Amino acid sequence: MWKTCVDCGKPFSIEADEVWKTRCLPCWKRWKAHHEDPQAMSGQSLTVDPRLEQKSKEINLLQCEKINLERENSELNGLKRELAARLRQLVGLCHPDKHGGAEIASDMTTWLLGLRDRFGWDSRNRLRSDKIMHK
Ligand SMILES: [Zn+2]
Repeated sequence: MWKTCVDCGKPFSIEADEVWKTRCLPCWKRWKAHHEDPQAMSGQSLTVDPRLEQKSKEINLLQCEKINLERENSELNGLKRELAARLRQLVGLCHPDKHGGAEIASDMTTWLLGLRDRFGWDSRNRLRSDKIMHK
């Protein structure tokens, strides 16, 4: 039986139980040498499609970006949990009643209470169940 080598395109003969072979003997030796010792093939004809190389770089970059965003996201979630746990205390400290009705106290209280809506917390500063994303 004959097959065509995937590397050099030349026909090579195989036995009936060797249909799995894809390379002629010289190409197989070269392929094997490369896979055992990539340095051995450096400078030789193994070319990589530049688009493939470009895409690999983009994928690596996106993976780094994803890791950074996940880290940032978990830091922000930690900060949100801390804020949620202390919101009642903060509102208590800022309440205008405790500051002779000062405008800044009123502003700060409004802003702090607004965080509940922005972050989807209930009146006890826990995530409202209806705000949990179902995607
Ligand atoms: Zn070949």
